[in-house]
Amino acid sequence: MVSKGPSLLRLTNKKRILRFLREHSVSSRQDIAKALKLSKNTVSLIVEQLIREGKVREMGLDETSHVGRPRIKLSIVSESMTAVGIWVKKREAQYQVIDYSSRAMEKGCVEIDGEDPEKCLEQLQQLSLHLQSKYETLLGIGIGIPGLVDPYQGIVHYSSHLGWEQVPVKARLQGALRVPVRVLNNVKAASLFHFHLGKKRNSSLFYLRMDEGVGGSFIDQNGIFFGSSWTAGEIGHLSVEDHGPLCRCGKKGCLETLVSVPAIVRKLEEDLRQPLNIRRADELRTFVAETADASMAKVLRETGHYLGQIIPSIIHFFDPERIIIDTPLDQVQEFRQAVLESASRRTLKHSFDQVEIRFLFDPQSAVAGAAQAIIFQHESYPGEDETQVKNQGSSDR
Ligand SMILES: [Zn+2]
Repeated sequence: MVSKGPSLLRLTNKKRILRFLREHSVSSRQDIAKALKLSKNTVSLIVEQLIREGKVREMGLDETSHVGRPRIKLSIVSESMTAVGIWVKKREAQYQVIDYSSRAMEKGCVEIDGEDPEKCLEQLQQLSLHLQSKYETLLGIGIGIPGLVDPYQGIVHYSSHLGWEQVPVKARLQGALRVPVRVLNNVKAASLFHFHLGKKRNSSLFYLRMDEGVGGSFIDQNGIFFGSSWTAGEIGHLSVEDHGPLCRCGKKGCLETLVSVPAIVRKLEEDLRQPLNIRRADELRTFVAETADASMAKVLRETGHYLGQIIPSIIHFFDPERIIIDTPLDQVQEFRQAVLESASRRTLKHSFDQVEIRFLFDPQSAVAGAAQAIIFQHESYPGEDETQVKNQGSSDR
């Protein structure tokens, strides 16, 4: 076994302390030493270094502790480290800059040519260079892209949604930037955000997103499950209707052709016999909230029925503690009921009763998750798998 040198060990401990402080907001040298099983001397030396670097600050004495000597409260200087998340869509790229406590410092959106990889990479490079020069404290740039993405190499192997094949995104962007670039599937990035938000240790989550496309991601304390060809969770291309519409992937009746935002809008336009001019998920959400129509309710029930058909596979394959369905139809009673009825009919009763299914609409989660992936990567240390991002602080391996 190769022994870790003192500097490597020190770097590892520094990252563990940084992670502990991020997760606990306020702590003390004594509490850190106890929680991470480190000597007080080791913790003191590293904390002094972090204070000198401007990443940690002292917050005065902790008046609530009555045992032993008074403790000095410590906290992360959140704005001393920032991360950028970018979410690539067909016509636009949303971006967000977050501080080390995941608070948004800046949000924005730029027009891009998502279906032209060459142009799109050029536009992403411009955006990244702009944000890199604006934020000196930047730790890196996380990019969420729909499709089969190898997060190690940063290659998009296939994106039916954007029409990309074998696009080496990371290699193209990294050369022009001084900060690290990380590329991952946008739905997997969003799952990272929601898993972390839940703060439920040892829980497992299947996150499902209905947007321009449809995708899913399984995540637990071991990190995101990518599978062997980056396909794990790609439920959008499960066929649920043998004679259904032709999908961009070449197959028929994929879930994406029935429950994605463009699919729902197309169906509503047919049934309501009028053009709706709806492109985005939030526009669809507003439209269904403001419209009362019997044939619309029927379309939304059907949509729920189709989605409900794949929930049993998720439960039986992954057995997650929670399923989050991120959808612009989160407030539509007919849709929610249809999903749950369709799912419960096909799932073992015990299993269905155990899983918590939540509907919500969170258009920012993919971009926030892509930025958080940078923070988690910054805290990962040699020997840890950087890509299967760990969310737990107690890694004593
Ligand atoms: Zn398909």
